[in-house]
Amino acid sequence: SAAAVAAAALYRVASAASAASAARTLGELAPPRRGVDELIGNTPVMKIKSLSQATGCEVYAKMELCNPGGSAKDRVALGIVRAAEQQGLLRPGFPDVVFEGTSGSTGISIATICNALGYRAHISLPDDTSAEKLALLECLGAHINKVRPAGIVDPEQYVNAAQRACDRLNQSRDASRRGVFADQFENDANWRVHYQGTGPEIYRQLDGRIDAFIAGCGTGGTIAGVARFLKERLGGRLRVVLADPQGSGFYNRVKYGVMYDRVEQEGTRRRHQVDTIVEGIGLNRITHNFSQGEPFIDDAVRVTDEQAVRMAKFLSVNDGLFVGSSTAINAVAAVKVAATLPPGSRIVIIACDSGSRHLSKFWKEALGVRNDTTLEEVLAGSK
Ligand code: PMP
Repeated sequence: SAAAVAAAALYRVASAASAASAARTLGELAPPRRGVDELIGNTPVMKIKSLSQATGCEVYAKMELCNPGGSAKDRVALGIVRAAEQQGLLRPGFPDVVFEGTSGSTGISIATICNALGYRAHISLPDDTSAEKLALLECLGAHINKVRPAGIVDPEQYVNAAQRACDRLNQSRDASRRGVFADQFENDANWRVHYQGTGPEIYRQLDGRIDAFIAGCGTGGTIAGVARFLKERLGGRLRVVLADPQGSGFYNRVKYGVMYDRVEQEGTRRRHQVDTIVEGIGLNRITHNFSQGEPFIDDAVRVTDEQAVRMAKFLSVNDGLFVGSSTAINAVAAVKVAATLPPGSRIVIIACDSGSRHLSKFWKEALGVRNDTTLEEVLAGSK
């Protein structure tokens, strides 16, 4: 019959099209990788449908949670280790040790890279770090040193503890092993990996059409590297916005030029004294990596824990995008920034890590959020 002929023709067209798209996909596949280190970077960019529809802008996520160690910190850990090798501080083939003070993601990435490249990892962290991050470090066989939460001027603070442990190894009689202090806050290799990798990838993946870039700031490495690269290409056409959680001083720094500001009392409460469920971003001091990014930051947006919690559930239910707290903060900031931009503007956020790393703290709260929560209700969240 005519219908059968038409159906057969349609089928031929459809299968030719799918063969073409399969060929295109296969053509893009990379050859076998020689180790976990070669899986790092080249992460996808994904349009967040729910937020794009609701805001009238195009909201994209750079999916750093697709890295093998689960976050953007894989790039940083690899960059720091490679730089240390180049300086002769780490010796391939020796059981040298990388020391770091970190509340989680970077420790997991350093442990991952060390295992992949034949080194050891020694991680100092505050004892309130989420249970799943601790468990992951244990699974990776890292040496773990738990300290109590403290300010950076306290010698017991985890970054200082890591530095001291490293010094101890290097001053010991044991010449078979050397230690290197990764020092992600001050290490120049941090922002450079984002300048050389994350930034150019985003630019290429979106054909250079980007109106706003939004990221939180822990060390500042991500925003420094990406913003610097994108600003060099796009200049004033691009707005770089820092998304900042409760208790962090960066917001006031960007808005008013001071970390602690009487205009907003919140900035006077140190981050480690605030009962926050958001991990990985927010700080009350200016680090080398933040300084590298500061000239390229146009504005800052404050996001509450409650907004982040509601946004995380919103993205999970509406997009199948299961994210951690810092990604949720960036997504809330994206909605706020979208309201200030012309319709159709393109906004890129960093999707830093997955929700599975935040089950016991952040997602315990997010579980209580209704499935049908609207974006207006997400934004109304304050604590
Ligand atoms: N999100 C998570 C989950 C993190 O662990 C970190 C880094 N501590 C960030 C975001 C912020 O990235 P950066 O250190 O590059 O500012």
